[in-house]
Amino acid sequence: MKTSFNPIVLTIRLVFFAFAVSASAVAQTPAETAGKKGPAVQTAESQAALTPASALEKLKKGNARFVEKNMRSRDWVAKVSATAGGQYPFAAILACMDSRAPLEIIFDQGIGDVFGIRIAGNIVNEDELGSMEYATKVVGVKVLVVLGHTSCGAVKGAIDDAKLGNLTGLLAKIRPAVAASGPGSSKDEAYVTKVAQANVSQAMKDIREKSPTIKEQLDAGTIGLVGAIYDVSTGKVTFLPD
Ligand SMILES: [Zn+2]
Repeated sequence: MKTSFNPIVLTIRLVFFAFAVSASAVAQTPAETAGKKGPAVQTAESQAALTPASALEKLKKGNARFVEKNMRSRDWVAKVSATAGGQYPFAAILACMDSRAPLEIIFDQGIGDVFGIRIAGNIVNEDELGSMEYATKVVGVKVLVVLGHTSCGAVKGAIDDAKLGNLTGLLAKIRPAVAASGPGSSKDEAYVTKVAQANVSQAMKDIREKSPTIKEQLDAGTIGLVGAIYDVSTGKVTFLPD
């Protein structure tokens, strides 16, 4: 009996062949990945080639890929070794710590692409300003984004004037945005979003007024500053008008 015509053996051979093909597809070298998908990681050259507008466009396109379920496949471990010697991210994003808004995922970015500065309610303090000054002046990012989001617990806490240990002082930084938004309830999601937008605007104002280093770069046009709101129910980031 010739075993090569045994249907069971043939099936096993086909399954093994399919596995071998898929395994070889996964085991691409960084060079192969780079050839097929553009630069594997940001480099000094790719960072320098970007403008504030084109850096923002990369974030917009990344979020569109996320929403459309068209995210890039990435060899994460290859990116770890490719970025071990240095980083050349193109954006710094001041965002809330909310677990539903992980930055690299919602903007479909890889390792070494963006700085994430995350704190409840995406409020601005001196430490975050220092981080943004480092990101722009030392590392060379092209765009700063302040990202608020819908249904933000910190914003709701500020609306309710909640008190809890060290959180009290953090929420106090959001109170001006509550005052600027008029009366409303933390149970009204539209009102919560309105306050979140006012809080983003407040953060952008704080950045300009409290960091001469960043203001100087904004005035020179070497970096951009934009506000945005992430919708936790749709995954979409809406950039706010200037
Ligand atoms: Zn939040």
